[in-house]
Amino acid sequence: MGRVCREVQDQVVGNCNNIQCTSFTNCNSIQCTSFTGCAWWNVPCHVARGVCVAAAVIARAACWVARAACDTAAALARAACWVARAACVVAAEVARTACIVAAALARAACEVVNFVLDVIGFIVEVILSIPIIGGIIRTILNWVTEIIWRIVGIFDFLASLAGIRPRKKMYFGVIVPPITPIASDADIQRQVDATVAFYDQTCNINMIFTGICHTDVSPPAAGLTVGCDAGGFFNDWLLTGSYFEFASATCKFTDSFRRIIGLGAEIIVFIVQNVTPANTNGCSFGSTHNWVVIEALPTDQAFVAAHEIGHACWLLHDGDPANLMNSTTPTANPTLTNLQIAVVRWSKHCVYI
Ligand SMILES: [Zn+2]
Repeated sequence: MGRVCREVQDQVVGNCNNIQCTSFTNCNSIQCTSFTGCAWWNVPCHVARGVCVAAAVIARAACWVARAACDTAAALARAACWVARAACVVAAEVARTACIVAAALARAACEVVNFVLDVIGFIVEVILSIPIIGGIIRTILNWVTEIIWRIVGIFDFLASLAGIRPRKKMYFGVIVPPITPIASDADIQRQVDATVAFYDQTCNINMIFTGICHTDVSPPAAGLTVGCDAGGFFNDWLLTGSYFEFASATCKFTDSFRRIIGLGAEIIVFIVQNVTPANTNGCSFGSTHNWVVIEALPTDQAFVAAHEIGHACWLLHDGDPANLMNSTTPTANPTLTNLQIAVVRWSKHCVYI
């Protein structure tokens, strides 16, 4: 039974049985109690007594009639009450069923639209996997969408800067190439946990992790040893970038259209064997890509992924050794400045819905 009907029943029509006639209950007590001691010779007294008794009989009869009418009215009111209650139950069930059906239809329509958008996103990403031309379009698209959403989000940025930071969210996932050994799931999870905890506590961002995907797409050599320099940047327009884009399209199909429009685009953390130059264990080219790369070795500290995601959200290096964005990522309890927090929250990856 629906909630509304249950409450109405409890509070209003649940008391149908309480509808009773409570009047005219003492008809038999209507008696003539006067002129009871008339002397035998007192004729007027006897006449008055007779009138009194007759009047009492008539009054009793009238009382019984009124009582019957009262009972009938109460019975009718009870019946009407039961009918109203039945109608209420039926109406509530109809409303509830209609609500469930409408919700299912809306959900199905939403899923269909989302799937169609994802298929379109997948096709676009496959096209963007074409070396050189796809790579150049990808770079331009990612920067243009970033700049557009930064312009749209300028007031949110200013609010963040002023300390007004309602909860936002950011999606991220991990893709592991089909090379063994490259990184254990435990070492990857350490990076994931540190990222989730850090952005939650520092920026009030809910980092939603979409899981570790083991891709079947084999990377070229430059996709396993990534140069974090100009060479690495331009490699991304060649087969290396094709690998990252195609593996993203196939591994992270759901909501892929968001990587095309930019808003709420999932950040993908690719696990690689090595990042050069030496002593570098992660890399990001800012808004150029929707992905960052990390080594995720057991010896890496936990905040490499969080640091690279910071770069993907436009953070530059910071001189403070305790800052997450120090070129040597802190090993514990990293910090961000007020401005850095506002810049991250302003990123196209970071959204309210
Ligand atoms: Zn860095």
